Amino acid sequence: MEFWNLCLKMLAQAVSSADYERWISALNCQEWDKENKVLVLSHPNLMLLNTIEKNFGSSIQGIVNTLAGQPVSISYQAEVSKEEPSITIDDKGQGELFPDEKVIDSVKDEGENKSIGLLPALTFENFVEGPSNSLAFAATRRVAECPGTNYNPLFIYGGVGLGKTHLMHAVGNKMLKHNPNCRILCVSAQNFMNDFTTAVRENTYDQFNNKYHNVDALFIDDVQYLCGDKRQIQNKLFEAFEKLVPYGKQIIFTSDTYARSLKAMDERLISRFTSGLSVEVEPPELETRAMILQKKAMASHFDLPDDVAFFIAKHLKSNVRELEGALQRLMAYHMFQSKGQVTVEMAREALHSILISSTAQLTVERIQGVVAEYFKISLADMYSKRRLKSIVVPRQIAMYLCKELTKSSLPDIGDRFGKRDHTTVLHAVQKITAERKTDSDLNYKIHVLEQMLKN
Ligand code: ADP
Ligand code: MG
Repeated sequence: MEFWNLCLKMLAQAVSSADYERWISALNCQEWDKENKVLVLSHPNLMLLNTIEKNFGSSIQGIVNTLAGQPVSISYQAEVSKEEPSITIDDKGQGELFPDEKVIDSVKDEGENKSIGLLPALTFENFVEGPSNSLAFAATRRVAECPGTNYNPLFIYGGVGLGKTHLMHAVGNKMLKHNPNCRILCVSAQNFMNDFTTAVRENTYDQFNNKYHNVDALFIDDVQYLCGDKRQIQNKLFEAFEKLVPYGKQIIFTSDTYARSLKAMDERLISRFTSGLSVEVEPPELETRAMILQKKAMASHFDLPDDVAFFIAKHLKSNVRELEGALQRLMAYHMFQSKGQVTVEMAREALHSILISSTAQLTVERIQGVVAEYFKISLADMYSKRRLKSIVVPRQIAMYLCKELTKSSLPDIGDRFGKRDHTTVLHAVQKITAERKTDSDLNYKIHVLEQMLKN
C-alpha cells in the first residue's frame, strides 16, 4: 500500500505527533482503487474510527486528494470482528455519523456530550473573518451566544467552499462549550433524507421524530438538496421546524443560494427559511485569502512566508477549499524536496498545474480566435450578423466557452460578439449545454477546444 504509506508520511507532518501516534497510525488501508479513486480505511474499533473521522477527516481528505491529484472518495469501515457488526460511514464527514442506536449509547457511556454530527475542528477560533463573511461571522457568533432568540432560524447561503459548513459547526461547538449538556443535531440534508427513507422503509417514524424533535438545536447543511419532487421530506422538515423554532430551539440552515431562489421547494418552507435572518458568505478578498493560508499553515506547523501566501492568494480566487488544496500540495512538495525555506519559486513549481488552469489568461478574444481557427471561419464572423449555420454554430460554441471559461458576464460577452444582446448569449449557452449532452460529435469538438484553450 505504497499510496497510503505516502499519505501517512504527509499526515505525520500535518498533525501533532501525539495525534499521529494515537489516532492516525492505527488506521489501516483496506483498499486503494486508483482507477476509480476510492480509498477504504479501517480501524479495529468503531468508536475510535468515528472519532478519527470527525477530528481528522478533513486533514486526511486534503492530503489524500493532493497526493492522488484528484478528489478521492474515502470511506471508513470498522474492521469486522465477531462481537461488533461492521458499519460503513459515508465519506462526507459532515453529517450524522452514528445512525446506530448502540453507537450513540456508547458515546454517552464514554462521558461525551449528547450532540451528534459536530466536527470539533471547525471553530470560530480557526475561522478567518473578513469583509466577505463579516455579517455571517457576526450572526453566527450571536446565535452561539444566545441560541433560539433573535436569529431563528439562521439561514447561511453562498457558493461552495466559502465557510458555511465551518460556521455552522462553529456555532455548535461554541454552544457546547457554554452548555455541555446541550443536545445539538448537525446533519447534512442528505443524512436527513436518508434517515427519513429508513423510517419509511422500516416503519420507524417515532424514532425519526424522536431524533429530530427532541433537540436543543438542529443544524441542516445544504438544504438545496431537499429541492425537487420531495414533498414528503419537505413536510418532515416543516414539521421539525414547527416543533423547534416556536419553542426557542435554534435552527440553522445552509444553502448554496438564497431561500427565495430555491426551486421546487415548498412555499411554506421558504417562508420559514426567511423568517429569521439570512446572511450571505461571499468569496474572500485577497487579504483574507492570504490570512486564511497563514492560519492554516500555522495550524500545520508549516512556515509560510508572507510573500508566498500572497502569491498563492493572488492566483487562487474562487474558494477556500481550493486554497487549502494548494497549501497541502505545497506542504507535500516541500517535504519531498526538503529544500529548506519555502519560496515563491517553490510555490510556483509545486502549484504549477493548479495555477495554469486558473491563471492562464483566457479572454473572450482568445476564445474567439481559437474557435474561429478550429472551425476555419474568419474571426470577423464572430462579430458579424451572418446567419449561415456553418458560422452560427461556431459562434454559439465560442459564446458558450466564454461563459464557461471566463468570468465575463452575459452582457459583457454579448458586447464583444458584435454588440449582441445578453439574451442571445444566454440562448447560445443553453442550447450548447443541452446539445452537448446528446450530440457526441459536438461534445467531442468542445472537449478538444477546451483542451486547446487550457494548454
Ligand atoms: P462551504 O460549506 O461553504 O462549502 P466549508 O465550510 O466546507 O465551505 O469550507 C471549506 C473549507 O474552507 C473548510 O475546510 C473550512 O474550514 C475552510 N474555510 C472556509 N472559510 C474559511 C475562513 N474564513 N477561515 C478559515 N477557514 C475557512
Ligand atoms: Mg458545506
